[in-house]
Amino acid sequence: MNKIVAVIGGGVAGLETSIQLEKLGYKVNLYEKDSELGGHAGKWDRLFPNRRHATEVIDSLTSRIKDKVQINLVATVNQIKRENGSFLVEANGKSQKADAIVLTTGFELFPASKKEEYGYGIFDNVITSAELEKMFADHGKPQSTTGKTPEKIAIIHCVGSRDEKVNRPYCSKVCCVTAVKQAIEIKEAIPTAEVYCFYMDLRMFGPGYEDLYKEAQVKGVNFIRGRLSETSEMEGSRVLIKAEDTLSSKPLKMTVDMVVLMVGMSPLPSTEKILKDLELSPNNDGFVQVKDYHLEPTHTKAEGVFVAGACTGPNNITDSVNAAHSAALEVHKYLTSK
Ligand code: SF4
Repeated sequence: MNKIVAVIGGGVAGLETSIQLEKLGYKVNLYEKDSELGGHAGKWDRLFPNRRHATEVIDSLTSRIKDKVQINLVATVNQIKRENGSFLVEANGKSQKADAIVLTTGFELFPASKKEEYGYGIFDNVITSAELEKMFADHGKPQSTTGKTPEKIAIIHCVGSRDEKVNRPYCSKVCCVTAVKQAIEIKEAIPTAEVYCFYMDLRMFGPGYEDLYKEAQVKGVNFIRGRLSETSEMEGSRVLIKAEDTLSSKPLKMTVDMVVLMVGMSPLPSTEKILKDLELSPNNDGFVQVKDYHLEPTHTKAEGVFVAGACTGPNNITDSVNAAHSAALEVHKYLTSK
């Protein structure tokens, strides 16, 4: 079998799709725009719900494609053309043929500076959940810009999700459980810290998630139902937050050492051009539209083009791995029936 499949995106979905296609006997060309494989998960410290190191998962995936898949790093796909029943994929000035395409382009984290009132990029100690992960990876705990260990930390849910004002009306699905995981990790690293989660609703629906929530409560994490309205900087780079406690309907002010914004998943702008080339449309939230949400979730409306992972909307790692298996099988059915 000499058929070639182009997998576009080297995060979890792209890696797992490549593994499965290679096992089915296809030649796989994997394109990744960054210099490393692993996507967002590869930059994370520990994963929910069991706080396994992310590198363990990514290393397992990358080791299984090593020497078996053509890996193109720092490879931005500029154009995809149809030609004689197959495709020509152009990246970095070089064109390669493909008999089928799997889009696994993933997502971008919501650019927190778009919520100007939250002070990200303006105040030193307003950071994102991704930056907190990096602090855990580098130092084992959060660190304020003054070098001091923060003793009072506010975690803000739904930043760039469930927010019509920034055109992100959907729930990003993974950030409640990420917030709870990070809150526990802060308490473990700094037992004296006061940690406050400001949430709209808590959406903890996966296996082990509820246990994580109970653990956070036992460890003394405070949960306040309320939405942040604005922040301002105080002496010593502390941050004053103003919110409304929506259970008591009372305004609330609190000065903290650090604010962590739980940034949601946003459609990746560079996927738009690929969709145009393939005459596909985004869905209402800007992610890749699948052919049939219930029955054909890894097909697109374009013949020979399949999809897996968070480029179709918020997904966790397990969702992405499942979608990757399904996409690989659908590619196989398509190519063997051609
Ligand atoms: S998962 Fe939680 S934090 Fe994330 S958007 Fe949904 S409700 Fe908000």
